Amino acid sequence: MKQICHLALVALFAFVIAPYRSQGADARHEPLTAILGAMPIEVQLLETQLKDKQSQQLLNVTVYTGTLNGRKVVLAASGVGKVNAAMTTTLMLDHFQPTEVLFTGVAGGISPELGPGDVVLGEKTMQHDYGKITGQVYESDATKDPSGKPNPQFFPCAAQLLSVARAAAKDAVLDKVPTTQGERLPHVRRGVIVTGDMFVASPAKSAELRQNFGADAVEMEGAAVAQVCWQQNVPCLVIRCVSDKADAMAAEDFKRFVQTAAVNSAKLTLAIIERLGKTPAEPALAR
Ligand code: SAH
Repeated sequence: MKQICHLALVALFAFVIAPYRSQGADARHEPLTAILGAMPIEVQLLETQLKDKQSQQLLNVTVYTGTLNGRKVVLAASGVGKVNAAMTTTLMLDHFQPTEVLFTGVAGGISPELGPGDVVLGEKTMQHDYGKITGQVYESDATKDPSGKPNPQFFPCAAQLLSVARAAAKDAVLDKVPTTQGERLPHVRRGVIVTGDMFVASPAKSAELRQNFGADAVEMEGAAVAQVCWQQNVPCLVIRCVSDKADAMAAEDFKRFVQTAAVNSAKLTLAIIERLGKTPAEPALAR
């Protein structure tokens, strides 16, 4: 009798519980993309396209879940600046274990060939305001993780996400870029995105960021997201559409172009999500 009971228990585990458990594990590993913007305007288009949309509050951040083009996503506006961006990224990694993280938003264009509406795919991101100042001399430095292990000064994006994004740029229909000679189609190019806790509206600061770090665009969140992802070994890509030129006109240009720029970045993000749905999962981060 005892043996029969034992056998029955083994059978119950083998045929009922074990398959159920492994199904649960598979369900947990279904690909899920985390998407962040800083301001609500940057995630609005994506939010309206979400199917099976649900929302929840995590430490006062409104987080949406649902599917976009058939892929599971989690979406949130983090708030402006590195602290809010790092906090929201951490919340997302901890609660949802995403396969990858995308940041979509607007930025100041520094590279001379970038105009409002053009998009930069962040091949590398770095914090331009992390370092040491001695007298008048500022020296940028690399960050470290909580255990003291040095991070790279420039966080490379996940190579596979960049190649998916470059391919997706061919599918996306983006809003045109206004120029003095009329409208033109926006360019999508890869580049260096620098991040700091300041809105740059200064030709001198822009020139310095270009000279010291090879900056193509400047914003206030990207490298914070990239640092959290780097430390947790989660693939990440920052997508930024130019809203201004980080110069004396930046505050005015920002108001004029923020909507178009936010939409262009979101449209490209949608095209990336669509492609990701058809792409095998990213292997471990190359590092
Ligand atoms: N009036 C807005 C300003 C936000 S700051 C507010 O108070 O909410 C600008 C936002 O756009 C940041 O999230 C930043 O990442 C991006 N950005 C656009 N142009 C920028 C620039 N020239 N310098 C720094 N960040 C810029």
